Amino acid sequence: MKTVLLLLAAGSGSRMGLKQNKVFLSLGGKSVLQRSMEAFVPFADEIIVLHRPGEEEAAGAETEKVPFSGVLRLVPGGADRQDSVENGLSRSGCRPEDLILIHDSARCLVSPGLIRRVRDAALEKGASIPGLPATNTIKVCREDQVLQTPDRSLLYEIQTPQACRADWLLQAFARARGDGFRGTDDASLLEHAGFPVAVVRGERNNIKLTTGEDIRMAESILGLSRLPRVGHGYDVHRFAEDRKLILCGVEIPWEKGLLGHSDADVAVHALMDAMLGAAGLGDIGLHFPDTDPRYEGISSLLLLKETVRLLQANGYELLNADLTIAAQKPKLRPYIARMTETLAAALGVDPSRLNVKATTTEGLGFEGRMEGISAQAVCLILPVTAEGTPAAP
Ligand code: MG
Repeated sequence: MKTVLLLLAAGSGSRMGLKQNKVFLSLGGKSVLQRSMEAFVPFADEIIVLHRPGEEEAAGAETEKVPFSGVLRLVPGGADRQDSVENGLSRSGCRPEDLILIHDSARCLVSPGLIRRVRDAALEKGASIPGLPATNTIKVCREDQVLQTPDRSLLYEIQTPQACRADWLLQAFARARGDGFRGTDDASLLEHAGFPVAVVRGERNNIKLTTGEDIRMAESILGLSRLPRVGHGYDVHRFAEDRKLILCGVEIPWEKGLLGHSDADVAVHALMDAMLGAAGLGDIGLHFPDTDPRYEGISSLLLLKETVRLLQANGYELLNADLTIAAQKPKLRPYIARMTETLAAALGVDPSRLNVKATTTEGLGFEGRMEGISAQAVCLILPVTAEGTPAAP
């Protein structure tokens, strides 16, 4: 009898707002995938990593870092978890008497004790999964309406690894395929096929990395927390005839606009400089030179979105920003709410993270003489990975 691990690494980072697959995020110098694989080395004879199609090389680079003397295969995952597991089963050399462990690589804090508990229970009873008794009241709802409240004492939050005899699992997948049944975990296929599944005690620290908050929780469990960073931005544009006045992405009716290579949105430029400065990434001129024809007349909101992507690629997200626009005229107060909402949408954050305000300069200086508008911004950014700087693509 051998033990085969199917390690699911085909997820995305979309719920973290990441471009890269979250399994490649670095925590304390090791990727999520590497940490997950390492945890199972003492338990597995064969490891099959289900990677996202097109990521074989990247996944291979991580698995190579793990000393493992058993059989290692890299297999493309499917459209969802069930397809991925099925791909893995079909590519494994498993025999009916073998034991299959299935684990989400996003649960990279799994402990040896938990793996052992699940494995031993499956060896004894055929199939087992780790679960935590629900501590919150859970309600069944549809379209914002509560339908019912199930008895909490019967509810468990289920984790991975899930473990099962290979013959049971193969039968359960064949049955699901025949019936067109789709499950959200492997145990639901076993249940569907009528096999008993034992529940063993899960662990609170065995979190699934899904959001940026989970990453910070994982860092604090591992003792790796990093500090937030501050940034400041300042920009000025002069007034010109026959230009639209765009501030924070909002067109303001006014007799003049601001002169610039892009749409000359001075407020967005100040915010971008603050964000780039906080991340230690230089300034707006470095990333979006005004000699580049691609940026001629472009909406600065697009450049702001690109700045968010640069921050994400370097492991940061915006916590909050405060902007001040200095203009003698026009009166900006009526537009503040729309400006805030427009910026929040471009940044992909809740408007509560932003504050936009306007001031005159009491007639003093170039703003007071109505030669132009200036803007200043400060922001705080938070690290979303322990190592901070995966290379920007
Ligand atoms: Mg500018």
